[in-house]
Amino acid sequence: MAIERTFSIIKPDATRRNITGKVLSYLEAGGLRVVAQKRIHMTKEQAEGFYAVHKERPFFNDLVSFMISGPVVVQVLEGENAVLKNREIMGATNPANADAGTIRKDFAESIEANSVHGSDAPETAKEEIAYFFKPEEIVG
Ligand code: UDP
Repeated sequence: MAIERTFSIIKPDATRRNITGKVLSYLEAGGLRVVAQKRIHMTKEQAEGFYAVHKERPFFNDLVSFMISGPVVVQVLEGENAVLKNREIMGATNPANADAGTIRKDFAESIEANSVHGSDAPETAKEEIAYFFKPEEIVG
């Protein structure tokens, strides 16, 4: 299995509760390694652009408001099968459906405030990484 990179966000509900370290510990324990990381407060335009794929969905405006309601930690994670591995560690979008021991089961507040984002495919990961990081900011 080749080493792969994925894009991850620790969302505002987690920064607000000061649990970014706890969330990260799940990712590291699952075999993923941080190769880039920064704490930012997204602009409305940035959040709208990031979630553009969802712009026709009923939850879009609320999601954008939530994502700019506080700081987030954006990060690039590296490891074997990183995209899928990250999704496994995160758990299902709705915490009510998330497996035991996943980040969303243990920390998410709701389907919206669900503590983490993770790319859904290797191609998306490349686009999302490039949306937030310059190549020289990634240190493997
Ligand atoms: N979301 C929401 N309501 C919904 C579905 C999704 O607020 O009914 C939010 C939630 O924060 C989710 C994000 O929109 O993480 C992106 O949705 P997606 O279906 O891509 O889920 P993910 O890939 O994050 O599990």
